[in-house]
Formats: sequence, structure tokens, C-alpha cells
Amino acid sequence: METKVNLKGLPQQELEKFFVSLGEKPFRARQVMKWIYGKNETDFNRMTDLSVPLRSKLSEVAVIKSIKLVERLKSKDDSEKFVFELEDGERIESVFIPTKERQTLCISTQAGCPMGCLFCATGKIEYKRNLTAFEIIDQLIQVGVFTGMHGYISNVVFMGMGEPLLNLPAVVDAIRIMLSDFGFKMGARKITVSTCGLPEKIRELADTGLRVKLAISLNAPTDAIRKRLMPATAKVEDIISAAKYYAEKTGRWGTFEYVLISGVNDKIEHAKKLKELIEGVPAKVNLIPYNPIPGVQFKPPDTKTILRFQAYLFENHITAIIRESRGQDILGACGQLGQKRNSPL
Ligand code: SF4
Repeated sequence: METKVNLKGLPQQELEKFFVSLGEKPFRARQVMKWIYGKNETDFNRMTDLSVPLRSKLSEVAVIKSIKLVERLKSKDDSEKFVFELEDGERIESVFIPTKERQTLCISTQAGCPMGCLFCATGKIEYKRNLTAFEIIDQLIQVGVFTGMHGYISNVVFMGMGEPLLNLPAVVDAIRIMLSDFGFKMGARKITVSTCGLPEKIRELADTGLRVKLAISLNAPTDAIRKRLMPATAKVEDIISAAKYYAEKTGRWGTFEYVLISGVNDKIEHAKKLKELIEGVPAKVNLIPYNPIPGVQFKPPDTKTILRFQAYLFENHITAIIRESRGQDILGACGQLGQKRNSPL
């Protein structure tokens, strides 16, 4: 049974308390954070700005853990999927998406997901548990190290496996480390939390003062369609009201993600209802043609239908962008995480 404290993933304040409990000054926390997040150092003996007695003490009572990479898959479009195994044997996935302008990492927050959205492969695997802040932040460290981009990943999106707002305390701790001068020094605008739409939790996130970007996976302009696609989620009106609260409180524009599924939510009447629903909310719409997953009958619409849907929104002064899905060949695209590669498509 592990009795040593894992220092990776501890919020700065807790790390300071830890050092005070050892009879040290709180600033030791900042020194150690720089080693952990800036240099990916896991050996206290190599932390040369700590005294030798403190290094030995830390080796006795603390540890800096890492999640274990078990699979790495590169797509022909250059995105990469990383599969990590956690201490209890659970597996999670992260997707690295490089472009000329930015290096984006899509990270997971839960092992499995309890929300059961019909168009999503993660919703089909059994929900196991929330990830710890350590397991969340270490995806950023490990992918950075394995891609040679440690410290240079510019954007993080919480769009991997799991519903981040069901794991808000750990997500908030991980974000604080991303933002910290002693962590990853990222700007809040470079971090996007994506949710399937949990109104109370959206308000809670707004009240943390973190001012990260918010993406709401809306996918339906009416409760009836939404219930069919996302049985566990809230009413659309309550979600829109929470989105407005978030925008007012943080001053940030958000996005509504809308997975277009042939014959389900892709008609002009749906675009019209969507427009009526989100009018006045400072947000744009990302249109994502559905990525097929095994055992689900849905299909993506044809290109003409997608363009018609987008054009309607544009004509009605709503910014709508069609998102190309990257990493489909490695099952790393939106909605595909958690599938085994030998699953028939
Ligand atoms: S879309 Fe998100 S919330 Fe829904 S099942 Fe998939 S991971 Fe969970």
C-alpha cells in the first residue's frame, strides 16, 4: 500500500501546506512545481535547488508519479492518439492535434462516461470513475514529452473521455496548474471545457473565476431530439440560460457544438429552431458531421445538407463553422474515443 504523497497534481496551496508540514517554507512548493511541470522531473535527487537533506526527506515521504503510455497511434492527418493505463488498470485516451497555428491536446477527465450519449463511443463503455487531477494534468506532461512538445502545447480542450463537469474539483485543480506561472503558464483563452450541458455545473464553473472557454455539446434544438440523442441531460432552455450566465459572468464567448446526423437534426427546420434558441447568446456554432461508431445506425448528412444548414445560420447572423474531424483512421475523432481498433465500422 502506497503511503507516500504524490506531489503531481496537487494544487499550489496544498503543496505549500505539505511543505509547511515538513517544517519548510511555502516557497518550496513553487520550486518543486517548476521541476515537475517545467522539466518533467520525477526524481527529487535531481532537484538541485533543494538542499540535500530536503531531497532525502522528500524521497522518504513523497513521490512524483506518471501515467503509463501503452499505445500510440498516428493518423495519416498527423493527429495522434495516446492510450494511457492508470494504476488501477483503467485506460484513458488523449488526442494530440497539431496544425500550423497551434498544438492542441484533447484530454480525458473520466474513465468511461455515465452520460450515455447515443452518438458517442465513450458513452457505450462502462463508467468506472473520475480521474484525479494528477491523471488529468499528466496527460499534458506525457503527450508533451512523447511528441517533443513539452511546454509548447498551446491549447487544451477537455473533450476526451468523460463529462468534465461531473469531475469539476479535479478539473479545476488541473486547470489552475495549467494557468500557473509555476505550471504551464497557459492563458485561460487557450483552454476549453466541453460539456454535454449540465446547467448547475456550468454556473459553478463560471463562479470559479477561471474564465476558460466553454463549449456546450448541444446537438439538438428541441428537448425531444435531445432526449433521443443525449438521454441523461437537461432541458435545452435551462442549458441556454446557463450559457448566458457563463457569458455574462466570464465575459467569454462560447461555442455550441452540434453533431449533424442525417435525418435526425440536419433539416432546415432544425436550423431555424436552433437559431431561435440561441439568438442573443454570445456564441458561435461548430457543426460536426457525425463520425460513425459500431452498433449505431446514425449516418452523417451529405455535403449539400451540411452546407445548407450552415448557410441558413450564416444568413441569420449566426457564425457556424464546419469542423473537420481529424484522427478518424485511429478512432481519435470526436465521439470515437474508447473504441477498440478491431471494432467493425
Ligand atoms: S459525448 Fe461526452 S458526455 Fe456524452 S457520452 Fe460522450 S464523453 Fe460522455
